[in-house]
Amino acid sequence: MLCLNAIVTLVMIGLYREGFSYLQMRSITMAIQILIFASLFTYYRRLKNLQPEPVNIKTENKKDDKKETQPNKSLVNFEQVAGLEEVKEELQEIIDFIKNPEKYHKMGARVPKGILFYGPPGTGKTLLAKAIAGETEASFFPASGSEFVEKYVGVGAKRVRTLFEKAKKETPSIIFIDEIDAIGAKRTIDSNNEKDQTLNQLLIEMDGFHTDQTVIVIGATNRLDLLDEALLRPGRFDRHIYIGNPDVRTREEILKVHTKDKPIDKMVDIRNLAKRTHGMSGAHLANIANEAAILAVRNNKNTIGISEFNEAIEKVIAGLKRKNAVISEKEKRIVAYHEAGHALVGKILNTDCISKVSILPRGEALGYVIHAPNEDKYLATTEELKNRIRVLLGGRAGEQLVCGEISTGARDDLKKATEIAYQMVCEYGMSNLGNRVFEPAFLKNCYEIVDSEIKQIIEECYEDALALLKANMHFLFSIAHELHEKESLTAEELDQIMQNTQSDISSHVGT
Ligand code: ADP
Ligand code: ZN
Repeated sequence: MLCLNAIVTLVMIGLYREGFSYLQMRSITMAIQILIFASLFTYYRRLKNLQPEPVNIKTENKKDDKKETQPNKSLVNFEQVAGLEEVKEELQEIIDFIKNPEKYHKMGARVPKGILFYGPPGTGKTLLAKAIAGETEASFFPASGSEFVEKYVGVGAKRVRTLFEKAKKETPSIIFIDEIDAIGAKRTIDSNNEKDQTLNQLLIEMDGFHTDQTVIVIGATNRLDLLDEALLRPGRFDRHIYIGNPDVRTREEILKVHTKDKPIDKMVDIRNLAKRTHGMSGAHLANIANEAAILAVRNNKNTIGISEFNEAIEKVIAGLKRKNAVISEKEKRIVAYHEAGHALVGKILNTDCISKVSILPRGEALGYVIHAPNEDKYLATTEELKNRIRVLLGGRAGEQLVCGEISTGARDDLKKATEIAYQMVCEYGMSNLGNRVFEPAFLKNCYEIVDSEIKQIIEECYEDALALLKANMHFLFSIAHELHEKESLTAEELDQIMQNTQSDISSHVGT
């Protein structure tokens, strides 16, 4: 300050000598003072910016939080998602909605708000959510259910609120909540208050969008059955899309996506790799491609060869075996005959249309048949109910006929078949016990006769299933064979196999 005063006094003396008036001198010196202050201030600011900020764990965490929920533009598109064609097709409508919301608003169409992807881990649920954001250029807000689980009441709910507020500011936007079961699990008497509040907040937010706000919430879970029903109601997560482990064709495509930019040896047969990776998820396959590349570097090679792929597959299989997730070749064969048995009995009896047969594990089942009802039905005749039991027991019958023994794989089928037979006897009056019902309270007294009726229905239907398959063994073999090769068959492919087998038989008979 002293220094400044000295400069000002010197300037004043200089000006006085030059003959300036007092007022002129005053304004010139004030301008000089302001200039000096301004430069000192800028210098000080610059100096402060150069100094490192004190590291404080709390502020660091806050920064991370912000980074996670900051809107990102996703760079993933559908091309990077191999296979899953049906799912992509189903999602086209959502994509169109995000791109042209006015079209839907004009029609007064209800806005889709929530989609739920469910299925085993590593199958591309997160990837798909990112791809939807990428395809629509919507802002992407990823989060994980566990981020909202907190000890202190209200913290989780506040985080949900903040997430939605941010998404609403950046529309169109996609909120992706992975492991949604962490906050959306069924509420019970002893559930905790904090979790309930968080779930309630999520429901409030989902109900609270305005029609002009394009915010889509995508949830992902491995366990749909764990979710609270309130979350699944119309207007919330009302679209459920199953994403299972890939079949052999999809595995080939996934491997192609993940080896596209890698120098692969000409001898490597991707189709063969796909065949050898039954039961693996997309994440496992991406991991194999990456492991093989790392091994090639370690082995000082210019290209990734078959030996690197073999080693990488072994490594992943070893990891999987520990978790009991990989199915042996023998089991795969049994499952193929089991599912072929269901499908063939279904075809012969012309029950519901079969839309897909698969030997890929789904939940606890090692394979499955998806039936699409021919029409909405509210009544069922005795014969139709028996047909349902025959189809259910067709799986075990297929195993019995071809493998000569039965396996534990029919547990769920037996449960369902017994349930139908029980209803026939006790609720619908469709047994030798006549047109009457047996109330559960009264059942204790007549357990034996009811049980023997149930047994008779089930045994009769099992014999029928066996006889049907026995008379059509050639179909059973060809369906099981194709199933073993392709791992899943569509309705059209199933029809094609039946036709081809039929013409094979006719030509043999002719010669
Ligand atoms: P999820 O969310 O179902 O657990 P992710 O979407 O996180 O699985 O998938 C993990 C990784 O596996 C992806 O980043 C991708 O590399 C790979 N992946 C999974 N499915 C596919 C697929 N259909 N096409 C290409 N890559 C896939
Ligand atoms: Zn079955």
